Amino acid sequence: MADSIGWGLIGASTIAREWVIDAIRATPGNRVAALFSRSRERGAAFAAAAGIDRSYDRLDAFLGDPGIDAVYVASTNDRHHPEVLACAAAGRHVLCEKPMALSIDEALAMIAACEKAGIVLAINHHLRGAAPHRAMRDVVASGSLGRIVAVRMAHGGLLPAGLQTWRLKDPATGAGAVLDLTVHDADLARLLLGEDLVEAAAMTRNSGLAAGAIEDTAHCVLRSRSGVLVQLQDVFNTPFNRTSVEIHGTAGSLFGIDCMTQTARGDVLLRDAAGERLLPMVHENLYVRVLRHFNDAVAGRGTPGCPGRDGLASLATALAVCDAARLSQTVAVDPRALAAARASPMKLS
Ligand code: NDP
Repeated sequence: MADSIGWGLIGASTIAREWVIDAIRATPGNRVAALFSRSRERGAAFAAAAGIDRSYDRLDAFLGDPGIDAVYVASTNDRHHPEVLACAAAGRHVLCEKPMALSIDEALAMIAACEKAGIVLAINHHLRGAAPHRAMRDVVASGSLGRIVAVRMAHGGLLPAGLQTWRLKDPATGAGAVLDLTVHDADLARLLLGEDLVEAAAMTRNSGLAAGAIEDTAHCVLRSRSGVLVQLQDVFNTPFNRTSVEIHGTAGSLFGIDCMTQTARGDVLLRDAAGERLLPMVHENLYVRVLRHFNDAVAGRGTPGCPGRDGLASLATALAVCDAARLSQTVAVDPRALAAARASPMKLS
């Protein structure tokens, strides 16, 4: 590999355009080399607007480009599995969007293929690295909250008009609020608690923004392995909502405010017997942080921010929420997935 990482982008996506291309370029030793889009015209227009030299509409030609060392997979959710397998076969490191796949079997196959090929597989759970969440994790890990009793997250807003497409309309793509938002919450809750989420109860609905049976609103309760109850609210259809993460223990409570966002922002209030105070923190672009950890992993200096195996745990939890809502009963998070995820160190990065 050259002394810099050449990135290939899969999909002419909004997330790449708005965040990840800038993050790649802001990370020393990283450059955007090429784009793959299923549409020649859309890909060429996207590449021209973003200053990307080469644009492909055939995946094999894209993966044959010698200037590509790592691939950012930001296609619709159903494409992550085949496209990551293709990257692994071509020996390219992968940063894949969440949810990493649509089934446990797909995700296990992706992990196995990347491990066999000796390449890094990371999942873009950017919220792990947010300063408020790292500050909360430090307090939880210190034990100063006492015994943790309950966690509550609100992850809602209005899905921007430009994104009211496949996520709300096409079940085959892995649509809906659970695979889009709950999967992030599940990842974060597991990390904050430092333990797996093992059981889900849920109700979902289409409140009018989505099509047919696709949910734009999901409420669920998860049980951690030690018994902590985690309550999640994920909504696409509430323009004046604000995001929050609360962790409540017997000796103190943490209130994370405006912290479930793509922008590096948010505060954390600690309330305990000594009163209330804001935790100090230094914000950093969340995607630059993901890129930095990815670089370290490629260079053999540790694991990426969210290894593929952790992405499997968050996917398994989101799939349990989908099943719990569909069946109107509590559902165990697939133990195969949790066992596979256990091989990865549980750390906030
Ligand atoms: P987009 O709808 O913007 O893009 C998804 C894919 O759709 C693109 O890769 C592109 O593939 C195709 N596409 C783009 N425009 C069009 C169009 N006009 N007509 C038909 N197809 C089109 O989705 P997002 O960027 O929001 O999401 C991409 C992935 O990133 C998802 O997996 C999502 O879950 C994830 N995501 C992650 C976030 C995070 O912070 N971690 C935040 C937002 C999204 P192609 O060019 O090959 O056709």
